[in-house]
Amino acid sequence: MVKVSSGGVVEEAVFEDVKATSQALVERLDEAIMIVDFFNKPDDIDHGIYARKGLITWYKRQAEKKIREKVERYAHIVGVETGVIRIKSFKSRWGSCTPYGDLEFNWVIMMAPNRVVDYVVIHELCHLIQMDHSPQFWREVERVMPDYFEHKEWLKDNGHKLVI
Ligand SMILES: [Zn+2]
Repeated sequence: MVKVSSGGVVEEAVFEDVKATSQALVERLDEAIMIVDFFNKPDDIDHGIYARKGLITWYKRQAEKKIREKVERYAHIVGVETGVIRIKSFKSRWGSCTPYGDLEFNWVIMMAPNRVVDYVVIHELCHLIQMDHSPQFWREVERVMPDYFEHKEWLKDNGHKLVI
């Protein structure tokens, strides 16, 4: 459910167009309330574009909070020290890392199911031990997340659908 603030009156409404684009998105919105303040919308911006911008901002904020929490939690389990964590917009990847422990994540992953987000975080953290995708790397991922394959496959099959 999205709360839409219009003319100072807050009413509940569902964004049908958003609902149609991603099931995961709707499930996530059920867990939290986002306010789109149409009252302060500039006149030259379309309602749909304005709502989309609001959603993107909301997902980026979610990413800043949730991904940092996940990195902190899983870094202990993987057994690595992390450096700077950044949330970015990538066109064709979910995350990246440097040998110094700096990590970057694509905010778009926040539209995926929670365990898939965990998988992406664990994947990058395991690269701090093993920089390639060798069997040794996947063994490390499996140690931390025994059912990782399911989430890896979900991302391969559905990642392209994570679009607002
Ligand atoms: Zn990788």
